[in-house]
Amino acid sequence: MGQVKFGSTCPTGQVDLKNVPIEIPETFMFPFEPYDIQKGFMEHLYKALELGKIGIFESPTGTGKSLSIICGALRWLKDHVERQQKALEELMSIENLKSEGIKEELKSEPDWIQDFAKKQGIDEKAKQLKEEQEARKKLEEKLKEVRTHKPNNKRKRNVLDEAFEELFKDAPSDLKKQLAAELKEVQSDGQPEDEDIVLDEYFSDEESMRKDGESDDEDLSEVHITKIYYCSRTHSQLSQFVREIQKSPYSNDTPVISLGSRQNMCINEEVKKLNSLSLINDRCLEMQKNKDKKPKGGEAKRKKSSGNCPFNKQDPILRLKDATLAEIGDIEELVKRGKQMKACPYYATRHAIPAAELVALPYNTLLHKATRESCGIKLKGNVVIIDEAHNLIETIGNIYSVEVSGSQLTCAYSQLSQYQDRYRNRLKAKNLMYIKQLLFLLSTFIKCLGGRFSYVSHFIFIFFYPDKYM
Ligand code: SF4
Repeated sequence: MGQVKFGSTCPTGQVDLKNVPIEIPETFMFPFEPYDIQKGFMEHLYKALELGKIGIFESPTGTGKSLSIICGALRWLKDHVERQQKALEELMSIENLKSEGIKEELKSEPDWIQDFAKKQGIDEKAKQLKEEQEARKKLEEKLKEVRTHKPNNKRKRNVLDEAFEELFKDAPSDLKKQLAAELKEVQSDGQPEDEDIVLDEYFSDEESMRKDGESDDEDLSEVHITKIYYCSRTHSQLSQFVREIQKSPYSNDTPVISLGSRQNMCINEEVKKLNSLSLINDRCLEMQKNKDKKPKGGEAKRKKSSGNCPFNKQDPILRLKDATLAEIGDIEELVKRGKQMKACPYYATRHAIPAAELVALPYNTLLHKATRESCGIKLKGNVVIIDEAHNLIETIGNIYSVEVSGSQLTCAYSQLSQYQDRYRNRLKAKNLMYIKQLLFLLSTFIKCLGGRFSYVSHFIFIFFYPDKYM
């Protein structure tokens, strides 16, 4: 085995983790007796997390890095939750004593002053901890329910299969095959086909989405429990990591979700066949705008089925969210499950973020601010693990870079100039100013690339020297 290097830093300087006195667990629930290099990795990771520091870990390929990350980080998370619970109990008892004291002191004061003073006495930290603990409790109950209902479905399927065999035992094999396929389709849908048709006539999804604030589910999703964001460069690396979690002892009690782009997670074949991330994003968002428009009279059903995505319905999405939290799956498995439950995995996983303890996501989703915010990812108070971090600088460069060719600049300059000439008198002064600014920028870029401007009457000619043309 090679050597592993550890280091940890914080805004105030470098820390040698070896000398920091932190209580380290005896065991990390590693699936087998860990080598020294793995044990060292987990211990240092645990210390860095406990101290809230930035840790930089370097370990050669084949040293069980992923499993060490999983066991080190998840062990810390489980211990952290326990410590939170204890802290909450202590804070609550202090709070009770405090309010008793306040009560005594304020006995002579009018009621409204007593109420106000009591409210002021509520410790913000205790409130936060309490919210998180309640969210965890609700989640655990829900996942238990989802997990215990699963075998029943299987049993139901077996009964159906047996009845089918008995009923069609003498039928011709072609007919039997066809019927079996139909039965399988109905079973995998999890609900009868016509139910979807009936739901199509209702435009209540967005109404109920709005009402979500009142439901338990939304209460749960509003509280973000402490979590680990694990981020890697490619989807295959993320899938590999998720498969390692599945094999680990933490697989049974850790809600894990994988995030991916619409291109990887969309199950609407009409949209997916557009085959380009930006086109898929645009089409999906366009369909949501259609969904938000109020249908008029007889047009209702036609518009619903033609303009909206049939997989973007609240109930199936929430069911898929629960199933995703209850059973760990990589993106391929999520897509498969989404198809079976007729629910969009892209939106189901986004709904699941607040309740997940581990979120596996690609670099772009974490590092691009707008994407991060649109997904509802909150980094404050959470752990971020960046795997293969040597790719980080290049990825950040790619995310915030765009390539524009000389011909695109020329085209933009020409069209904007024509627009300005034609509407000059109708444009507001401010807009005209912005257009001029854009034209100035475009002309500067063009000149930078070696372009020359030539004006003849109303026409502008732009020439590029061949060796500088891009
Ligand atoms: S809602 Fe989901 S399935 Fe439908 S188009 Fe958007 S990404 Fe695809």
